[in-house]
Amino acid sequence: MNIVLFGPPAAGKGTQAKLITKARGLLQLSTGDMLRAARTSGSDLGKKVAGIMDRGDLVSDEIVIALIEEQLDTHKGAPGFIFDGFPRTVAQAEALDKSLRARGMAVDSVVRLCVDDKVIMGRIEKRFKDEGRKDDNPKSFKIRLDNYNKQTAPLLPFYAAQGKLTEVDGLADIETVAASVKQVLDMQGKGRKTMRKPFWKRIFGH
Ligand code: ADP
Repeated sequence: MNIVLFGPPAAGKGTQAKLITKARGLLQLSTGDMLRAARTSGSDLGKKVAGIMDRGDLVSDEIVIALIEEQLDTHKGAPGFIFDGFPRTVAQAEALDKSLRARGMAVDSVVRLCVDDKVIMGRIEKRFKDEGRKDDNPKSFKIRLDNYNKQTAPLLPFYAAQGKLTEVDGLADIETVAASVKQVLDMQGKGRKTMRKPFWKRIFGH
């Protein structure tokens, strides 16, 4: 099973991806982690992307697609992948479909972690204080959020049209979100593509 974890920066994609990895033996492919590793290693690629990342901008489609394809080929026998932070543009999503198809696979499920801007801004402020990640500074974070809204959010109708998109409440605590994601994936495994919220949530919100 191949899963795309979807959501704005600081939605909790990385945290949830790690939990799913543990529970299902899937491989987490995080383009953000790969790019940060390239920077730490001091490679040419790392040097090329450093400024772009710190500013909060997106690295070129070409670079991240190549990183993903390299991983797909390195882990040929893997039981499945969790894509975290990828795809982030429609061109990346189309390239992913093509790369997976060429290897006899497909995206099976896209899980969107729904959060609101105020909450993620609070999370990022805290992370900036605690960890000092350069692109968590307020100016870069605003650019990251704008990029998400302009370039990444258009993927929602792309995956909805394929019947692959399910939304979960990403504002709950980590274990509750993990349980919701698990429920989606279990249903997906049984062939159901959509999950409706219980009626009281539809009426009263969360
Ligand atoms: P977050 O989800 O918190 O924004 P990531 O670790 O996923 O953080 O990404 C950090 C940075 O790495 C992004 O702001 C961007 O510069 C770069 N990056 C990661 N994934 C992609 C991608 N798929 N396409 C373009 N740039 C990416």
